[in-house]
Amino acid sequence: MKGIQIERVQAMIEQLADYGRNADGSITRPSYGPAYLAAQEWLAEVMGQAGMEVTRDAVGNLTGTYAGQEEALPAVMTGSHLDTVPNGGRLDGALGIVAAIECVRSWQEAGWRPLRPVKVLATIEEEGSIFGLGCFGARVMAGEFAGSNPDDLQDKHGRRLSEFLSDQGLPPSALVDAVIDSSRYHSFLELHIEQGEELDLKQKPFALVTDIVGIDRHWITLSGQANHAGTTRMDRRRDALVAAACLIQQVYEAAIASNGGYVATIGTLTVSPGATNVIPGVVELRVETRAADNGRLEAAHTHLAALLEAVGRRYGVKGVISKRHTTPAMQLPEGVLQELRLAVEAAGFPPAEEMPSWAGHDAKILAEHIPSGMIFVPSIKGISHAREEETYWEAAAQGIEVLNQALKRLACQRETLGTGGK
Ligand SMILES: [Zn+2]
Repeated sequence: MKGIQIERVQAMIEQLADYGRNADGSITRPSYGPAYLAAQEWLAEVMGQAGMEVTRDAVGNLTGTYAGQEEALPAVMTGSHLDTVPNGGRLDGALGIVAAIECVRSWQEAGWRPLRPVKVLATIEEEGSIFGLGCFGARVMAGEFAGSNPDDLQDKHGRRLSEFLSDQGLPPSALVDAVIDSSRYHSFLELHIEQGEELDLKQKPFALVTDIVGIDRHWITLSGQANHAGTTRMDRRRDALVAAACLIQQVYEAAIASNGGYVATIGTLTVSPGATNVIPGVVELRVETRAADNGRLEAAHTHLAALLEAVGRRYGVKGVISKRHTTPAMQLPEGVLQELRLAVEAAGFPPAEEMPSWAGHDAKILAEHIPSGMIFVPSIKGISHAREEETYWEAAAQGIEVLNQALKRLACQRETLGTGGK
């Protein structure tokens, strides 16, 4: 048995990258676009060659099923997303799909059949580039949009999801039709590039993911007094932008002081009225914090509210958090993590690095319904969502071998696993 062949994985990555490759080498493959559909068609063909039966659900998620000895048993599922961000890299999402296909292909070559069916999943719209909703395809599977109307979801040009669906010959009832029955799934594994620099810095070939971070977004308005930039004395000003600058700096310093506990980003800023000769009266900004621990996330929120209050007092500005949107951190279940540790051992590797994921993933959505786990392989210099996205292939080969061993273990297991944390 030849097992996993990394050259084939690399070749599949290059072939997939041809769908949506830009002149500069980056990849733009938005969901439902021509490049996406062609990639999906190619993937279906490759899955078929690897002995899988291919289906596409009502919203556009693609699944290849490798039959098990006992078809009635709930399936083991693995995979990742097929869409990319604009000008993204060729590994984000794609690697998790082709790695899974390579595992199945090696079984087919060896004439090996698992007890349970194994499904390779290629989700649609994980990046949220079209509708602004991250992990959209997985969320639909999880039933999060079952009560929504496909006319209500629009892209930035006002084009509705219902139009995207009808163009594809998909039914208007897609948001209901694509909901999965989670009792039909035993477990889910996702292999993904880390997208951070931890593994590269530590020179580790792969890591097992313990938690997926929570994300806390705050919409903040600082209201001072717009006034004449020449006639208003410096000690009489209520400058909203100066207050905002102070807040931004303090939020940044506090996140640094947390020593890896959480990260904070201010990525948007709107200044009104926005004229050279007018003191800024109103500033709107958004603060995003992320932590693997929900207590940490809440503490960061409380601290942010206190900083806002203090900055407001100092500059005579009123600061309010007008809206807050929190998605809590998700601890991946110990049962799956333990299976992954045993897979590492079975592959003959020393105990793996374990770490949280600082990016959101489909596995976080599915983990609420199906016992789920994740494997990270290195991102060179931590670069992702960019043309320079790259991995160390010898390391990736080890991560894929862990995926292979874990899938084999899970797919031969009679017992069920729990979705709960430690
Ligand atoms: Zn991704």
